[in-house]
Amino acid sequence: MSESEFDIIKTYFTHIGESPDWLDTGIGDDAAILHTHPQEQLLISIDTLNAGVHFADDTPPENIAYKALAVNISDIAAMGGQPTWFTLALSLPEVDHGWLKNFCSGLLEVATKYNLKLIGGDTTRGPLSITIQIAGVIPNGKALCRSGAKPGDDIYVTGTLGDAAAGLILQQQHLKKYNSQQQILIDSLRRPSPRVDVGRALRELATACIDVSDGLASDLGHILEASSTGENRLGAELNLTLIPLSESLQQSGLGLDMQNELALQGGDDYELCFTAPPSEQTAIETISQQADCRISKIGTTILEPGLFIIDKGQRKAIMKKGFDHFGAA
Ligand code: ADP
Ligand code: MG
Repeated sequence: MSESEFDIIKTYFTHIGESPDWLDTGIGDDAAILHTHPQEQLLISIDTLNAGVHFADDTPPENIAYKALAVNISDIAAMGGQPTWFTLALSLPEVDHGWLKNFCSGLLEVATKYNLKLIGGDTTRGPLSITIQIAGVIPNGKALCRSGAKPGDDIYVTGTLGDAAAGLILQQQHLKKYNSQQQILIDSLRRPSPRVDVGRALRELATACIDVSDGLASDLGHILEASSTGENRLGAELNLTLIPLSESLQQSGLGLDMQNELALQGGDDYELCFTAPPSEQTAIETISQQADCRISKIGTTILEPGLFIIDKGQRKAIMKKGFDHFGAA
């Protein structure tokens, strides 16, 4: 029997310690929410990248650093927060000054772009692994949680989906040269663009939000599960033709079925998936224009558990095959 990382978390880690009164939300969302200030809440999240698991051994160090920080920023963006500081725990097999210099240039690039300060960390010898803990802030009560979706909400995603998964396929082919479209796909795997501006703008109108790290089906599944209450089990109906595919993915040479599969199940896109009532559609179109970020309405939530896709007039149930560290896939 394969075990899921989520089963492991639920079985072993959800009941450690008493819940203090300053903790508003603990395990289960993209970031924990703490009230430590009269007007603002503090958002805390952490993510690890391991060599050979999250990035190939030959990945340039500036890209490793870029991704390590960007994926953490994405969790704060998914909460609607403003990222502020981070700590870095670095495990290195050896001291390589050239590697460290390039690693720091990637880190500095993202820290400068998103106005973040490195305030601490830990440096040890061991297999290459990068853990970043990030903090963000949000005005009281404005955080976007996974748990607020209502039946009949529209479901949206930012950007395009499946690009990073296609980039991974290309990277594994070890081609000598990539054309410009292929390079865009590889870049989207190595240098994700967390959607901080869109997340902030959604504070007032999204009912639930998550970042797509493990795949749309899997991450939307987390919203549906967190938003289900008692007998009211929430599901979703998506329209396949509305799932946004980039020009690069469409020109990648991968067949259309594979493109759709990557968009639904592929991980590492770090786009936002969110829900909002139909009355917010115009406001969401305005956010899309102001943030210069494509936002696509891809379906609706329904009062029926499961994830369904409308494809050529037919309704099919889809399985969640998104990335799970201990899953079978
Ligand atoms: P994300 O994909 O947004 O980074 P994860 O899927 O990694 O989130 O984690 C889901 C939830 O479980 C998060 O709230 C995270 O903080 C929590 N979590 C994951 N691993 C552990 C752990 N070892 N101990 C406690 N909480 C954990
Ligand atoms: Mg997340």
